[in-house]
Amino acid sequence: MANQAINDLIGLLGAEKVLTDESVLLNAEGPLTRPFERAFGYKPKHLPIAVVKAMSTEDVSKTLKYCNDNKISVITKTGATCSEDQLIVINDNTIFLDCEGMNQLIKLDAYNMMATVGCGMHLARLEELANEQGLTTGHCPQSQPLACLGGLTATRSIGQFSTYYGGIEDLVCGLEAVLPNGEVIRIRNVPRRSAGPDLRHMFIGSEGALAVITELTVKLFTYYPDDFWKGAFVVKSFEEGIDAIREIITKGFRPSVVRLYDKPDMDLNYGSVELAEGEACMFFVAEGPADIARVTGENIMKIAEAHGARWAGTQIVDHWLATRNNICNTIGGEEDAQKFRETKTFYATCEISASWSEIKDIYRNVMEKLPQNLENLVLLGGHVSHSYQTGTNVYFVYQLKATDPLKMNEDQWELIDMLCKEVLAQPTGGAMHHHGTGKVRVKLMHEEHGSSYPLMVGLKHMMDPNGIMNPGTLILQE
Ligand SMILES: Cc1cc2nc3c(=O)[nH]c(=O)nc-3n(C[C@H](O)[C@H](O)[C@H](O)COP(=O)(O)OP(=O)(O)OC[C@H]3O[C@@H](n4cnc5c(N)ncnc54)[C@H](O)[C@@H]3O)c2cc1C
Repeated sequence: MANQAINDLIGLLGAEKVLTDESVLLNAEGPLTRPFERAFGYKPKHLPIAVVKAMSTEDVSKTLKYCNDNKISVITKTGATCSEDQLIVINDNTIFLDCEGMNQLIKLDAYNMMATVGCGMHLARLEELANEQGLTTGHCPQSQPLACLGGLTATRSIGQFSTYYGGIEDLVCGLEAVLPNGEVIRIRNVPRRSAGPDLRHMFIGSEGALAVITELTVKLFTYYPDDFWKGAFVVKSFEEGIDAIREIITKGFRPSVVRLYDKPDMDLNYGSVELAEGEACMFFVAEGPADIARVTGENIMKIAEAHGARWAGTQIVDHWLATRNNICNTIGGEEDAQKFRETKTFYATCEISASWSEIKDIYRNVMEKLPQNLENLVLLGGHVSHSYQTGTNVYFVYQLKATDPLKMNEDQWELIDMLCKEVLAQPTGGAMHHHGTGKVRVKLMHEEHGSSYPLMVGLKHMMDPNGIMNPGTLILQE
């Protein structure tokens, strides 16, 4: 069966696009899938039959049609930086569809403020091309140096400057996608439309479980990096920081960077700021035309001071701006693996959101209950990094000491379940803020969506009736 599929795919696409070397198959899930276990000799439970290197929409279409007709599972990937086990293979009848090679710049239209790219375009490269014209994509997730536009759209990602520019859902204007039966569809780019539900949203956040996004058009913005307003403050508590941020946002100010760190997270990630027990550090960047950035900054100062915050200068912000993506230099590499073997400790994160009042309850409950119930929890902290009119997020960070290194994943699941239970106990608690569901949090989807979950199941069945697209993601495998 596997040999037949390989021969057929070679016949359709050419041998150079169908990779079957053992080392390719062993590493197909990518170095960021189970990085801790990998350091201790993790081997995937299921290997894919082949990795198909798609170079065009036609390649994607032929591959999907073949796999759909023959009921072969397909896992699409671009940058392979996802963090919720989206790329784990769950059966022995799977191919990877690697679209990173579809990285062409199709058009950079500076007059209409849009760029059209292939799904494998690296975000960092597009940002570079935009900057050359005095523009920015406004999309700067921490994975910016590694991630591609296809994956960023499929995971419903968000960038560090989101409070001004929005998440990817605010940035995608139109797209081309291939449905599992090989049919190519396009969602035309119009500035706004009132023509039924927005079909872009069937693809944004679809995690490779509904279709393959082959081409995207995203917005561009005028870039004013020389006019950034920056400022940092120490506040007496994390909760007081949330209140200050709430006031800034709900009064109508839109700084691009809005971050608030509790002491454990600050000590772990930025050691440079001295915080007393219970204190928190918040910092901001305001951007846009110089006058707007200045006025936003002046008002942040006033509001922060009214909340008893202590000015901490701009150095902290400069340090963060300069180092914010450095993790991408080492993640998944031998240096990290060596550290895991020495410390047997794993650092990971869980990002959630809620309304302004409930986020404080969630933070308090998580910080109180998790250490009481998890013996191997070495560190727990969190920061706010994306704020909205109605609420904000907390990006919890934690360190776990491995009981059995090859079972780190199970330890993580225990923590994530416990944490998300606190989140979902609140009416406005959202258990997946920006990393998606993958095969980790998919079992929470029913609770996350409540009575609307059958619509998600229906959408999956309608778009992917044979269930070939990234099974086990988005909805539970039935
Ligand atoms: C160090 C680090 C920092 C991160 N920081 C952030 C952050 O700040 N904000 C944030 O939102 N996320 C962040 N992430 C998570 C991750 O980078 C994002 O989810 C990113 O969007 C994934 O893009 P990718 O190209 O790597 O996709 P991949 O990992 O290749 O794929 C991700 C998912 O999308 C699907 N997919 C990929 N390409 C396509 C396609 N063309 N069509 C359909 N489905 C597709 C895959 O099947 C998979 O389910 C971070 C991850 C790391 C490792």
